[in-house]
Amino acid sequence: MVDGKVCNAATDTASTMRCFICGQTSKDFNKLIQPKEINVESLKFGLSILHARIRFFESLLHVAYKLPLKKWQARSPEDKKVVKETKEKIQRNFKDEMGLLVDIPKAGFGNTNDGNTSRRFFANPECSSRIIGINLDLIVKFKIILEVISSGYCIDPVKFDTFALETAKMYIDLYGWHPMTPTIHKVLVHGAALITHAILPIGQLSEEASEARNKHYGQYRLHFARKFSRVDCNRDILHMLLLSSDPYISNCRQRQHKKTEPFSKEAVNLMIANAPPIPPTEDDRDSGRNMEDTEEGDYEEDNDKEYDDEEEDEYDDGENDDKQYNSN
Ligand SMILES: [Zn+2]
Repeated sequence: MVDGKVCNAATDTASTMRCFICGQTSKDFNKLIQPKEINVESLKFGLSILHARIRFFESLLHVAYKLPLKKWQARSPEDKKVVKETKEKIQRNFKDEMGLLVDIPKAGFGNTNDGNTSRRFFANPECSSRIIGINLDLIVKFKIILEVISSGYCIDPVKFDTFALETAKMYIDLYGWHPMTPTIHKVLVHGAALITHAILPIGQLSEEASEARNKHYGQYRLHFARKFSRVDCNRDILHMLLLSSDPYISNCRQRQHKKTEPFSKEAVNLMIANAPPIPPTEDDRDSGRNMEDTEEGDYEEDNDKEYDDEEEDEYDDGENDDKQYNSN
């Protein structure tokens, strides 16, 4: 699977606030209209699980910043001041209670929200809910959804759809003044369709494996490639990538034993009980089927950053959205 930016580019979706599957924009997301026609071709892009967790986390964070206003866009100077103060308070509390740096710009690119921050956030819903003031049940429901889609096991699309719809309704009841983000919309509304269309259990198609390779790319380029010719350099890198992804050779590698967290009861409920269990092989674990303890904890950072900025920009000032609506 690929990230949202690639999906948008591949489906000619110009705005990051538009769903690339059904074409609705963020102003329609909270109406929960069942889309009349969906782009079946785009279903093969999958759920982009790794990025979904970061997006879910950021969406909740943005709702939390605007909780005192209960408005989607803070336009007046007073409103902007309130949002800024709330944001600072939340950031302070995250640092004090969980030791997390949240939503702080990094020099050069993006911010400190990455896979690890979002994982820590969902790992302790009680604490997270207390810090950001978002309903605990909603955070728990989001957590279960993320747990199920990244599990790597067969998911029951009917049960998943019911659960996702419940979650969407709960979100709208609580925070109807803030439209869902495209990622929440995609997972909650199109999740079941995407799961049905995937050729494997959706968690096995995570983009983690490809994102983790970025680290190897850097290593191979630095240490295992000829530097005097670009062609030779790229050829050497490709040879190394082919070598290290060869099924036989990767099976010969000695593997570390990693402990994994058991699934929650609610998550197990959404999986297909009588499907033949797919025993997680060491190799699956390595490629990120169970990401809690993987050593490649920092792989996603580079690739997320540009996307973060883009979504946030459009999201916060709202001006681009207006243009979009008018042209519809
Ligand atoms: Zn959609």
